[in-house]
Amino acid sequence: MSLPPQPWPTGLAEQVEPLVARVLAPNGSPFTYTGTQTYLIGGDEGLAVIDPGPDDPAHIAALVAATGGRPIIAILCTHTHRDHSPAAAPLAALTGAPIVGCAPLVIESDAPRVDAPFDKAYAPDRVLADGDEVAGPGWTITAVATPGHTSNHLCYALEESGALFTGDHVMAWSTSVVVPPDGDMGDYMASLMKLHDRDDRIYYPAHGPAVEKPRQLVRGMVGHRRAREKQIARLLEQGPQTIAAMVPVMYKGLDQRLWPAAAQSVHAHLIEMAKHGQAREEEHGTWTRPA
Ligand SMILES: [Zn+2]
Repeated sequence: MSLPPQPWPTGLAEQVEPLVARVLAPNGSPFTYTGTQTYLIGGDEGLAVIDPGPDDPAHIAALVAATGGRPIIAILCTHTHRDHSPAAAPLAALTGAPIVGCAPLVIESDAPRVDAPFDKAYAPDRVLADGDEVAGPGWTITAVATPGHTSNHLCYALEESGALFTGDHVMAWSTSVVVPPDGDMGDYMASLMKLHDRDDRIYYPAHGPAVEKPRQLVRGMVGHRRAREKQIARLLEQGPQTIAAMVPVMYKGLDQRLWPAAAQSVHAHLIEMAKHGQAREEEHGTWTRPA
């Protein structure tokens, strides 16, 4: 897959609104799109850093440069995939800032993964629960628990501007990859509905462009997932299915390198459907519709 044109050079701070700047990390890929975007929140007296990104010395140096000597009051991570949280520890060591935010993962899987694996070294100074606040000079950030993409995923609401930092939960360029067992399709759908019931003005995802019509996008994503579930139900009505056989039928035109990710999402749907008696796993990875 060829990468899209870079929206902004890596390593430079771009002010996207009065309290929000972003710095693009040099880690573009089919799973990270143009790369991880680290957000700097606040003004002259102190900053929060959201998703410091991969442990890349050039990116960490760019973040330190972007602070311009302003203190970092908190380093926040949305979740602990390796393209989001590994820079937290070196940035904390350089600046003395505390790491505040999502919990370390409870569930650990050593199964081969198709997307960025987990940062097992992540060690926060303070874990935020849904509704917990972190405040600095002129800004207040509230944690919004949004499990699904990972079980520990948090979004962050900037109360002064109506912006929501959505991490990998909602992005405009791609649907979120939900990889069982840590990823959970039922949780993911509930977390989409949770955002739909809020009235955030704009979303800033960790990858790709800002979302200026957040409700409309979330509604589309809920519809998309329900359509995928219906597709799976129809295939099961035709007879026993394997995930490997379902993916090319369901994802016509998708780059074959992304089939493993699509297979994980189909698996996540099947697990959720099984909970509701709409699918059953038989031997040898065959799925059927319960009679
Ligand atoms: Zn992720």
